[in-house]
Amino acid sequence: MSPTALPASADVVVVGGGIWGAATAEALRRHHGADVVVLERGSLSAATTSHGAALMPRARSSATLRVMVRETYAAIAHLESALDEDLQLHRVGALHVASSEATRAALQAQVDAAHAEGDRADWLTADTVRAKVPWMTADPDWRYAFFPDDGFIDPYRLGTAYARAAKQAGAAIHQGVAVTGLTLNGHRVTGVETTAGRIACGVVVCAAGPWSALVGQWAGASLPLAPVRSHYWITAPDEQRFPRDQVMVFIPDGRFYSRPEVGGLLYGFRDRVCVAADPRVYPADPAGFAFGHDDHGWESLHEALQAFRPYWDGLGDVPVAHYISAASGYTPDGQFVIGAWPGVDGFVAATGCSGAGIAASGGVGRAAAALAAGAPAPWDLSAFRPDRFGPVDPVDPAFLQRCADARANKRAG
Ligand SMILES: Cc1cc2nc3c(=O)[nH]c(=O)nc-3n(C[C@H](O)[C@H](O)[C@H](O)COP(=O)(O)OP(=O)(O)OC[C@H]3O[C@@H](n4cnc5c(N)ncnc54)[C@H](O)[C@@H]3O)c2cc1C
Repeated sequence: MSPTALPASADVVVVGGGIWGAATAEALRRHHGADVVVLERGSLSAATTSHGAALMPRARSSATLRVMVRETYAAIAHLESALDEDLQLHRVGALHVASSEATRAALQAQVDAAHAEGDRADWLTADTVRAKVPWMTADPDWRYAFFPDDGFIDPYRLGTAYARAAKQAGAAIHQGVAVTGLTLNGHRVTGVETTAGRIACGVVVCAAGPWSALVGQWAGASLPLAPVRSHYWITAPDEQRFPRDQVMVFIPDGRFYSRPEVGGLLYGFRDRVCVAADPRVYPADPAGFAFGHDDHGWESLHEALQAFRPYWDGLGDVPVAHYISAASGYTPDGQFVIGAWPGVDGFVAATGCSGAGIAASGGVGRAAAALAAGAPAPWDLSAFRPDRFGPVDPVDPAFLQRCADARANKRAG
């Protein structure tokens, strides 16, 4: 991953060395033997990926998404073996709480799907939940499903593990090289222009995270996503209350998720009001970016804590030690953007992670690699078609708002 000269040509150039670009390159080498180059303008996995909370629950309403998350667990096992390294997947299990009728029905469907598809999932009593998560109010009238094999992982570590395994398998990875344009011959992509020269290639994979719409425009593709803020908080360490092996907790009716984080509790909420940024002004280094609304997250936290009281009325009294805020690429329907752009040969999008990109990284890499290699898609990817909204203007404020609203309306995952 050193600053060596760029190759003159490659089968596939991947734009972006975040977790999706790296996972795509790894799958391109492992499953298709393609000659692949990854170009990252900054450092690998340092942009969105390193900010992820990296919870990886299997319980999803979409069958395709469940398959893609399972693929991530399989990829982690493969990477550990290929790199001979423990990636420290914290397999603490995921507890899902349903306090409303609608969430009960959704949870029942997810447990049924888990059983049908071979995953472990158990119903727990309120007493068992109280023993597992002493801080939570565990009402006997609510329902509790536990997925014991779920976990979380350091997202930077996983993202860079995909990249190291890709490199070990023969991929070329260049950091500090920005792609500045694409070259086309008619409707066919023929290469990329970069700050370090040109590379001729047959296929470009756009894995540029929240900046992907800008890359898409060079190919005439109006990729339907915008940078939308996600944020979470980490309490001061209190290992008695928040043991390091405490389960992950998801409470859709409280809009809440949590996991342990070095002796404290990492927690976040689905905000009722979400905020998007224009991709042209969202900086390459997201640290400290002001979205222009509730910039330190206090209003959002205050409002969420009020609604969270039925589940734990003491959370607001626990000192906050860290606040993490960055954008994910959200689409108006909260689904990924994976596929070719109609009418342009050799352009594949792998973006629009909609806040689930660590959990789904293995599946996304596998799917994008198959498309880039001209192989059949491993699953039905029709829900992720890049052109499913028709032509959009990805910098139009009304479009940005649609993407922000998608996060606000998201219930889980
Ligand atoms: C606060 C927060 C919490 C989250 N929590 C979770 C969670 O619990 N679980 C989960 O699964 N996901 C979570 N996510 C989402 C997850 O982090 C993302 O889905 C994932 O990191 C997206 O990876 P990516 O590779 O698409 O994007 P990125 O990591 O942003 O990678 C894109 C890369 O492209 C590069 N790039 C852009 N333009 C160019 C160019 N022109 N030339 C070269 N390089 C370029 C960028 O520098 C960047 O490194 C969270 C995200 C945030 C912000």
